[in-house]
Amino acid sequence: MRNLSDIQEVKRILSRHGFHFSKSLGQNFLIDPEVCPRMAEESGITKDMGVIEVGPGFGVLTQQLALRAGKVVAIEVDKRLPEVLADTLSDFDNVTVYNADVMELDLNELIAREFPGMDVVVCANLPYYITSPVIMKLLEEKLPIRSLVVMVQKEAAVRICAQPGQRECGAVSVAVQYYAEPEILFAVGRDSFFPAPKVDSAVMKLDVRSAPPAVLDGVEEKRFFQVVHAAFSQRRKTVSNSLSSGLSLGKEQVRKALSSAGIPENFRAEQLTLAQFGKLCQELNRQEAEK
Ligand code: SAM
Repeated sequence: MRNLSDIQEVKRILSRHGFHFSKSLGQNFLIDPEVCPRMAEESGITKDMGVIEVGPGFGVLTQQLALRAGKVVAIEVDKRLPEVLADTLSDFDNVTVYNADVMELDLNELIAREFPGMDVVVCANLPYYITSPVIMKLLEEKLPIRSLVVMVQKEAAVRICAQPGQRECGAVSVAVQYYAEPEILFAVGRDSFFPAPKVDSAVMKLDVRSAPPAVLDGVEEKRFFQVVHAAFSQRRKTVSNSLSSGLSLGKEQVRKALSSAGIPENFRAEQLTLAQFGKLCQELNRQEAEK
């Protein structure tokens, strides 16, 4: 198996294929020999499972996934990379490369076609310029996947894994918590990449929930996200003001709903727990029903 963590080998591949890194595609490739095996292990992959990787690059993580899984589908947007991957992954017959933009693929259809009857996980070193859109696509499309083990920029990991009620919490944290249980697994320094980016990274695991959190029982998904997005629409304002403008509701109406849900009027969106968001949705629904 080609040693893709060896910088000399990476340089040989660059020159053999005349490849140049694309900054705009977030091409910082892993060269730390410990990170990819660890990510693959944390995914809990076995020979009867399927894995989706977004952005295989030269295939350093793909190798580790292919060693452990029944089948790997690697989705890579860069048109120059399938040729390189055919070379670097020539030892494996269980990897299929899709030369496509992950944001444009129908992943439910892909999973049904590529992994019939198999448990599926996602494992990837994500391109940082589209971290949140990729994660939200993978979660919102309600794919039959068990978990995501993904490397992202450290600050993004902290934000995504922040619990509602914590200072770093944002709309994306609340949205992720709706679909999954997130945790940061380990930090990865910038020197683990070639070329080295200007930021550090972290690997996180999102265990996909089989149903929304119990504290949101009876709350309609569409309503929940409408309220969450309105609450976070003006970060500097109180949740009362953001909801009033975001949902086009009178201030008095919002004040009443907050009070009935037991939420102080001067709270900001990041201070609300999931349960409080749930209660708020129910109060707003009740008000509407009484109109
Ligand atoms: N997995 C490799 C590694 O760990 O060394 C490369 C990771 S690099 C951070 C991100 C990869 O995602 C690049 O290969 C890039 O070309 C690819 N990529 C960027 N945007 C993409 C998209 N929209 N769909 C699929 N792949 C994409």
